[in-house]
Amino acid sequence: EEEEKEEEEEEEDKLEDRKRPNDEPNTFIDDIFGGETASIVTCLRCNRESMRREKFLHLSLEIPPMFLPKPPSFSHQQGGGGGGKRKGKRKGRGGQQQEAQRIAEEKRREKEREREEEERKKYTLIDHRTLDDDDEKTSKATLLGCFRHFSSPELLCGADAFFCEACISNDFGLTPASKQIIFHSLPEVLCVSVKRFTAFQKLTLNVDFEEYLDLSSFVLNEREKENAYYRLFGIVVHQGSMGGGHYVAFTKKLTNSLSSERGVWYYSSDEQLQGGSLKKVMGSQAYVLFYERVERGEGEEEKGEKGEADETKGVKKEEKEEKKEEKK
Ligand SMILES: [Zn+2]
Repeated sequence: EEEEKEEEEEEEDKLEDRKRPNDEPNTFIDDIFGGETASIVTCLRCNRESMRREKFLHLSLEIPPMFLPKPPSFSHQQGGGGGGKRKGKRKGRGGQQQEAQRIAEEKRREKEREREEEERKKYTLIDHRTLDDDDEKTSKATLLGCFRHFSSPELLCGADAFFCEACISNDFGLTPASKQIIFHSLPEVLCVSVKRFTAFQKLTLNVDFEEYLDLSSFVLNEREKENAYYRLFGIVVHQGSMGGGHYVAFTKKLTNSLSSERGVWYYSSDEQLQGGSLKKVMGSQAYVLFYERVERGEGEEEKGEKGEADETKGVKKEEKEEKKEEKK
């Protein structure tokens, strides 16, 4: 048994080695895209809390399961074959066996999910976020919803139970724990992709996103909350299917760009470059999104400006002057 443990520890050491050590100097890539997540585990027996920080350059977010379609073969069986979409070809014996295995696997997972759900009800998980109750009530898949899913606390129990040092030394053994991943710090430029490719299919559902993104509820420390406001400046869209496709992009001139094209959107597909618009961007099925950090409340100012061009309420002097330049 001890040998096994040692082997496991060695494996972990190897994993650690592959990560960039924390004391290595940052490159400009880290300075621009680098943020840090905090993984917080709370022992539900003694409330001891442990935190592990991890750097990221990019986030890949799952779409919350409730918005996902059932795997095709499973829903087909459930539907009783009423639909007209049966495959023309009859499957061979091997195919049928595979199909049966897949269904059995799906059912097993479904049961496991239900069991976990039941188990979860016994415990109160620890949530470090500062969300409003209303935030949870969404009927559509949204980018913010993906962030909520990413950062929602989960229960570690059963085979995943927690090795709590305090409880182990009191001979309690492994304990149930609450685990949550939230942000310790956020990057200057946030690069986030939506997981659209599963083992079965490409998920083509719309995941709504906003031009402005406020992640302050997902940030652990108060001071960092001020740095959690973002504005969209680019998206990548995947056209096509699981088997193959084509990437196109919408990009915007950045805030600090001095040219008169500041804020103009472009659409690019290979060598083709043409004008885009925020409306077209918003109507797209984004796969990767790029957000730049902005001052808190910037979105509100711009909304106010739309009605009256000379309305200067809250607009910074610098910006006003730049805008006059643009008009000329
Ligand atoms: Zn404990």
